[in-house]
Amino acid sequence: MDLYEYQAKELFAAHGVPVLPGTVVTTPEEARAAAEQLGQTVVVKAQVKTGGRGKAGGVKLADNPDEAQAKAEAILGLDIKGHVVRRVLVTPASDIAEEYYFSFLLDRANRTFLAMASAEGGVEIEQLAVERPEALAKIAIDPLAGVDLTKAREIVTAARFPAEVAEQAAEVIVKLWDTFVAEDATLVEVNPLVRDPRDQVVALDGKVTLDDNASFRHPGHAALVDQGAEDPLEAAAKAKDLNYVKLDGQVGIIGNGAGLVMSTLDVVAYAGEEFGGVKPANFLDIGGGASAEVMANGLEIILSDPDVRSVFVNVFGGITACDAVANGIVQAFQLLNSRGDEVNRPIVVRLDGNNAVEGRKILTDAALPGLQQVDTMDNAARVAAQLAAQGA
Ligand code: ADP
Ligand code: MG
Repeated sequence: MDLYEYQAKELFAAHGVPVLPGTVVTTPEEARAAAEQLGQTVVVKAQVKTGGRGKAGGVKLADNPDEAQAKAEAILGLDIKGHVVRRVLVTPASDIAEEYYFSFLLDRANRTFLAMASAEGGVEIEQLAVERPEALAKIAIDPLAGVDLTKAREIVTAARFPAEVAEQAAEVIVKLWDTFVAEDATLVEVNPLVRDPRDQVVALDGKVTLDDNASFRHPGHAALVDQGAEDPLEAAAKAKDLNYVKLDGQVGIIGNGAGLVMSTLDVVAYAGEEFGGVKPANFLDIGGGASAEVMANGLEIILSDPDVRSVFVNVFGGITACDAVANGIVQAFQLLNSRGDEVNRPIVVRLDGNNAVEGRKILTDAALPGLQQVDTMDNAARVAAQLAAQGA
């Protein structure tokens, strides 16, 4: 889970990393009140989960409350790389003497953690890495040894931070490591880490990615989830433990195994070209051992998507044989009917693999309304795409 800047800085503050105070607001009037409260020149900052907000006009100085209101008005609703701004952070404007870059991240390729730091921060770090790689220090971190003051000083020296702030920066880096470990983050990034005219080091921006696999260890992290921004279908699927991703097409997809589902998306998109550009409506992997309940939950989610015009159930029987899946489909229809959700769009089923013959027979005998079987994946994709085009 990625966090907003203001959430990242709240975590920083909790671990002793110096940040500026701030108030998150959703209206221009509230921005004015927040600026009034701070009683100084402020910065109004778009809170969206993407970088480059400054360049996109999402970070603006305001000398007084009137201006803060006007700037908030301009920033709220702005579309920054596909993210619409719903809230802004009002925070004191800092005098900046210098901007540095710092991050801890999971280095998957080298199976370790990595610290990256540069005395030339503020700019896009990807650009710096390409244009002046020697200015970006990269130091591997032994996960067991972690980062103490000695290690932090090594990072600061490698990044060539100026001597006046080196010790302070090292202390901040130790606290950022504390944040990284204690919160189970896979990324902690500060760009810019600034030096103010009084040589104080402050984190002006913050980017944190939390490891969702560790969320059970952090009941407090649930409060950081952005309920409103999540797709409602994805949220409902998550609540049912389904591996579902909403896409913007018309053919609902259910398959077993991520690889099979991925290729199903491809064949449906390909077949759909013939029918005016029909596309898959979702990714849904019900995994091996799909029970009737999982099948019913999957169908329920897909049928509650108003964009869906047809559904393609693509199953390759392995450890869970096709007859078990077919029984699951039959029971899923019963379960949905008993819940009052009728299956009101055509369903195309392709069963292959272990016990395919038995599975097909079960579905033939059940004669479920609106369900038809097609033997091959390509043909089934074509039929599903055609049905979606007709239903549109
Ligand atoms: P992004 O990385 O998304 O562009 P930042 O928070 O890094 O957003 O802000 C962009 C730039 O705006 C910073 O590099 C800094 O120069 C300036 N800035 C951000 N916050 C403040 C602040 N509180 N006071 C003064 N300048 C700021
Ligand atoms: Mg930044």
